[in-house]
Amino acid sequence: MSDKKSMTLTLTCPSCESAIDVLPTQDAHHAQCDICQEQVPVAFNEDHMNGVLKDCPCCSRKDFYKQRDFNRKIGVILFVIAAIASIWTYGLSLIALWLVDFFLFQKLPSIAICYKCQTIFRNVANIEEIHDFNHEMNDRIVYSDHNFHGEQLEH
Ligand SMILES: [Zn+2]
Ligand SMILES: [Zn+2]
Repeated sequence: MSDKKSMTLTLTCPSCESAIDVLPTQDAHHAQCDICQEQVPVAFNEDHMNGVLKDCPCCSRKDFYKQRDFNRKIGVILFVIAAIASIWTYGLSLIALWLVDFFLFQKLPSIAICYKCQTIFRNVANIEEIHDFNHEMNDRIVYSDHNFHGEQLEH
């Protein structure tokens, strides 16, 4: 039985910043933005077809980090509701939120994100090889355009 889902990408349109969802297909060389019709160049290889992430199909960098597929906006809203409710529940709502958060968090799938172009990758086969977010790497890639070539910065 094969329940292997293929990798999906969410890239950010360089001209209008909308999210563009893309499935890797080897003959696709562009992803089109539904909002402004901008054509974003992409390059897929054999690895991407197998859900393996080693090179970014958008910016060709090799530096990625992983995080849980968690909607931060919803998290912040839930936290505010629980914080306000805690006035009447003597803090119990915050404990309840913490418990819900803890159990939900365990079930959330991990996603990989490109440091350079912020493209999001879901259903990555080699997600275990990808490290957690590293602040120093992020700063050096984003602000000084450093390229780590897939080497994790260790301290
Ligand atoms: Zn666009
Ligand atoms: Zn990239």
